[in-house]
Amino acid sequence: MTGIIAKLALAGALVFSPAAFAQDYDIVLNNGRVIDPETGLDAIRHVGIRGGEIAVISEAPLEGTRTLDVTGRIVAPGFIDLHGHGQDTPAGRMQALDGVTTTLELESGVLPIADFYATAAEEGRPINYGAATSWAHARIAAVMDVDPDADTYWFFRYIGDPRWQTELADDERLSAILRHINTGIEEGGLGIGILLGYAPGIGRAEYHAVNALAAARDVPTFTHARFLSAIEPQSSFEGFQEMVAVAAGTGAHMHISHLNSISLSDIDRIADMITTAQNNGVNITVEAYPYGAGATGIGAAMFRGDNWRERMGGIEYSDFTVQGQPLDEERFLDLQENAPGTGIVVHFLNPDERPEHQAYLDRSILFPGGAIASDGGPWAVGDERLSGDVWPIPDNAHSHPRSAGTFGRFLRIYARERGVIDWPEAIAKVSFYPARILSDSVPQMRRKGRLQEGMDADIVVFDPETVSDQATFQQPAQATVGFDYVIVNGTVLVDEGAINTSVLPGRAIRGTVASGAQ
Ligand SMILES: [Zn+2]
Repeated sequence: MTGIIAKLALAGALVFSPAAFAQDYDIVLNNGRVIDPETGLDAIRHVGIRGGEIAVISEAPLEGTRTLDVTGRIVAPGFIDLHGHGQDTPAGRMQALDGVTTTLELESGVLPIADFYATAAEEGRPINYGAATSWAHARIAAVMDVDPDADTYWFFRYIGDPRWQTELADDERLSAILRHINTGIEEGGLGIGILLGYAPGIGRAEYHAVNALAAARDVPTFTHARFLSAIEPQSSFEGFQEMVAVAAGTGAHMHISHLNSISLSDIDRIADMITTAQNNGVNITVEAYPYGAGATGIGAAMFRGDNWRERMGGIEYSDFTVQGQPLDEERFLDLQENAPGTGIVVHFLNPDERPEHQAYLDRSILFPGGAIASDGGPWAVGDERLSGDVWPIPDNAHSHPRSAGTFGRFLRIYARERGVIDWPEAIAKVSFYPARILSDSVPQMRRKGRLQEGMDADIVVFDPETVSDQATFQQPAQATVGFDYVIVNGTVLVDEGAINTSVLPGRAIRGTVASGAQ
């Protein structure tokens, strides 16, 4: 017996020599705390990456072409942002430093979808990207008789124009809108983005029809709900009630964009209604971001009408800022009238000073099964938007701080400082849950948000003791700290805490129809 064991041991030593092992993996992450929310794995493991995939998760240390010791760090699936308006290289690099490996433009979406993917493929992207087909673009095109650009901010040209926001669609116009949307789905759009809150006067039947189309095509919709008010009628509650009704009435999978910013002080009743709808089989999902302020164009419909400030919970003109500077009534009204596409940040909750506001935010952030999604956007210096192969982003660039800090902020406040959520659940909310929300309709997403053998090697390595957002409302262009490595499709994009500007490993995430056709 002894002799046989000795021979087997010798054979094993020959087959599994360190030299043979080293060629097996491109990158190895040894000694990290590996967390995979889907399987519940939370243990010290060693991860071998080969050819863009997770090749092995081992109980014994590994060797690779590049072997990294990540003792004391969490190794988790790369974060997936379902609400990323910054679909360009500088915004993607800033998000990568916040742990994001996939950023998707779903709430607004764009049209034409083919142009969006062609431009991204031609330029390259640091992280994975994709977009839904845009109902707003489709409606503006149909009502205003114009051709849209494949850019979210194209719609800002029309943000203050009541024609596309209020005119009801007759059968002919509705057909034109649905035709535009359907073309986007055919071209690989990840469902339908519906900026309903920007056109709150449109018909109930149109919203129903758009979701019925989604149900027929087996794609989800992503809605910025109608209305922004804690006071009835035309309240946020009514807007979410409409979503629940349409989800039940069409069978579509309907996703609620930024539950936190629309529910205002009415979140308890709204969250209870959504949970009960889910328990009754209604296919509705949610996301939220961890800030008490939003961002949009000053001409948006929610900032008009009778008593709109009171209806938003009694906000002041000075709660609006442009490039960090608070407005007064005169300046607000001037910009709204003459430059409606002007980007503003609006502070609708004050969680730092009012505990009840923190509680409203918590209910959205901690919604069971809900994703964290940034609603972040591109960066600009003055009026000039940054795009192309830009890095670093200048210190004086502006955007909402969520464009840089959403995920680091969520991990810092909720998992480390307050401890209201444990690390595995926190990781689930930024990786597995957003992947799961898309997994039925987007086959590629079944290989993301999961740290398992055979899955895509989109991986973050971060220090749970130091991970922290740095971006503030006054100085937003400050990257999150604490992410040592961010790996996208097996390529190290964030290396020892810094962006490697020589690689653009992001790939397109596309809907079923197009990926099946290609
Ligand atoms: Zn929105």
